[in-house]
Amino acid sequence: MRQRKPLVVANWKMNGNSDLVQQMSDALSMLKQPLPEILICPPVIFLTHFPKHQNYKLGAQNVSEQQSGAFTGEISADMLTAAGVTHAIIGHSERRSLYGELDGLISQKVKTAVDAGLTPILCIGETLQQREEEKTLEVLARQLDAVYAAQPYLLAHSVVSYEPIWAIGTGRTATPEQAQLVHQFIRQHLAQYDVDAADALRIIYGGSVTATNCQALFAEADIDGALIGGASLKVADFSAICEMA
Ligand code: PEP
Repeated sequence: MRQRKPLVVANWKMNGNSDLVQQMSDALSMLKQPLPEILICPPVIFLTHFPKHQNYKLGAQNVSEQQSGAFTGEISADMLTAAGVTHAIIGHSERRSLYGELDGLISQKVKTAVDAGLTPILCIGETLQQREEEKTLEVLARQLDAVYAAQPYLLAHSVVSYEPIWAIGTGRTATPEQAQLVHQFIRQHLAQYDVDAADALRIIYGGSVTATNCQALFAEADIDGALIGGASLKVADFSAICEMA
């Protein structure tokens, strides 16, 4: 039987407002335990607007690899933890493709986050072209090794989110079987660095998850939850996904 507590992450991206903060927090606060671990990652300006509640935690969508100094526009891991933030999404495909974040920088961000007491949610995933060229596993292994090969201690403090780029915001989800095969590969691959940490690692899936398709994904042995973009902006849908995880 699976011992890993499911994790459901809302990635609001650059969306949302004070009304959504209130509505989401009210709805999640009313959900009855037992619940998965629920994490809301709103734009950083809203992080301190969420009332504290046992039913959810707060995460950032990004974090600086630096600790402090002349880095205009950046936010440090220490600033996030001081604001009550527990997690940070790192290496989301939008940050990789739109902001030029490469494996080396992402690796530094994971280390800085862990060292400051934040749990990094490391996003990895292949493009459609890479999948069609049967390079998926090679790409994922490279993205994982960039972080964990030289610093395997980070694994025990991490969450990994498998996010096929062709499934993000497209309405095209990986089938539960496709996602399970990849999640199993990720766990097996990471076992070379730390068998126990790989077994305990939560590997969540992201890519057009909805209240309709989530149950089949959650039923797979190595899918430990989901990272949700579009559907996390709909209070009823996101609450329903949390209840099904
Ligand atoms: C995401 O933001 O990483 C994501 C998976 O978005 P969506 O659920 O909209 O595909």
